[in-house]
Amino acid sequence: MSLRRILTVDNKADLTVLKQVSKPVTAVDDGLRALMDDMLETMYAAPGIGLAAVQVGEPVRIIVMDLAREGEDKAPRYFVNPEITWRSDELFVYEEGCLSVPEIYDEVERPARVKIAYLNYAGERVEEEAEGLFAVCIQHEFDHLEGVLFIDHLSRLKRERAIKKVKKDAQAAAA
Ligand code: ZN
Repeated sequence: MSLRRILTVDNKADLTVLKQVSKPVTAVDDGLRALMDDMLETMYAAPGIGLAAVQVGEPVRIIVMDLAREGEDKAPRYFVNPEITWRSDELFVYEEGCLSVPEIYDEVERPARVKIAYLNYAGERVEEEAEGLFAVCIQHEFDHLEGVLFIDHLSRLKRERAIKKVKKDAQAAAA
């Protein structure tokens, strides 16, 4: 396993990759599992609770996630070629953040519950319903596969301000 660099919005080349629509995976094989292992390790190290493959520069439809709370056992989850097959009319507001938009947090309104279908780490098809933080996280990560960032759900002013702040922080860190 190895740590990958997480792409961030302050870097123009990174942003171009993050804006890509990720390609479907053709087979869940050992090569793909190695990428999922790297993604999980990178996510834990960041630390974060969800990561899409495009965030480490691999525009393929894979998400890793772990929603275990501090003190709980690790509970890694893998979603290959995920689909959202149903969205509730009921909405839910949550203050989101993103490893590709470091230190920016803002409220995003999304469907409170969704039904999803995906292939797991073993390549088996799974269907389930998500609610609460799980629903927020899977929709946030699914957006990444479509080239959409959570700041794209904010007003243009807030989005530009967010990117400016990430740039400023990156420059300060490099100085
Ligand atoms: Zn994100």
